[in-house]
Amino acid sequence: MIFDPLKLVRKNIRDLKPYSSARDEFSGNGSVFLDANESPFNSPYNRYPDPYQKELKAGIAELFEKGPEQIFLGNGSDEAIDLLFRVFCEPGKDNILSIAPSYGMYKVCADINNIEYRKVLLNEDFSLNAEALLKAADPHSKLLFLCSPNNPSGNLLGYNDVVQVLKGFEGLVILDEAYIDFSGSHGFLPELEDYPNLVILRTFSKAWAMAAIRLGMAFASPEIIRLLTNVKYPYNLNYLTQSFALEKITEIRAKEKNVNKIIQQRRFVTDKLKNMSIVEKLYPSDANFILAQFHQARNLYNYLIKKGVIVRDRSNVELCEGCLRLTIGTGQENKLLLEMLQKWALIKS
Ligand SMILES: *Cc1c(COP(=O)(O)O)cnc(C)c1O
Repeated sequence: MIFDPLKLVRKNIRDLKPYSSARDEFSGNGSVFLDANESPFNSPYNRYPDPYQKELKAGIAELFEKGPEQIFLGNGSDEAIDLLFRVFCEPGKDNILSIAPSYGMYKVCADINNIEYRKVLLNEDFSLNAEALLKAADPHSKLLFLCSPNNPSGNLLGYNDVVQVLKGFEGLVILDEAYIDFSGSHGFLPELEDYPNLVILRTFSKAWAMAAIRLGMAFASPEIIRLLTNVKYPYNLNYLTQSFALEKITEIRAKEKNVNKIIQQRRFVTDKLKNMSIVEKLYPSDANFILAQFHQARNLYNYLIKKGVIVRDRSNVELCEGCLRLTIGTGQENKLLLEMLQKWALIKS
């Protein structure tokens, strides 16, 4: 089967003539720029940033061992998620598939774009039910979202299950690997070329510790990347983000050190939680957070807020009844959380 993303694209997008900026219409070496109505003062901030993010893309391409033509850079991976809807899904007509529970943005984007959202429950242990997922598809199913390691459950999805979905689904499979650095797995990036319907999302918000600068990545075939690029805002990544990221991607050792610290702390917190009577169930994590089920989760959540410790209440999410999601912080922060949990346990005993 030859996969052609152009067959999935909305007709208006297939026919779109993208915006052409002042800098697009000129090539060569200028020194006097009077083409974009910029101010001549306050260099370098007076100039529009590179709409193609050439320098940053080259750096990221080298880092991830992919070609720049396989990379889309966005204002967070959330921008890539929204663009995938706007490029591929016909409002009021198409639908998308997703696992449940999972990251909330998929549904929000579906709702904003008036696209039917079909969710298929994970198994009780949060593993993927590939067959059930594929069964929910019809000819209007354009996108299928997987998240691995999954938020909020924290587990890496099974390799064979993901492959089954990639081979069985006729639309695009979006594999969100926001937390992959904490998992010990390479994820699917090394196999990107084997699956023309695969889009992998990565982000600088988690392991790279740069959520503030809003920088996300989508890796896919050059055809898919071109479509996303045609629809994005021309200057979707500002100059500060581009220049800061370009500097930080050279500091990969620092990033790895921080990831190792978090993995070590995840083990520490897990061991402590295991011995607490208030913890009903503890889910193994491949991410930088732990999902745990507590007695009276909502009350505990409110108690922690009063103590200044904010965790995520997932107690009303499917398959997560009574669960709180605990992000791994610094050693000191985690100790404080554990102390508060001990105090709560004493009050409750
Ligand atoms: C945090 C997170 C992201 C990151 O989104 P950005 O827009 O890049 O900050 C993506 N996917 C999942 C599942 C997440 O939890």
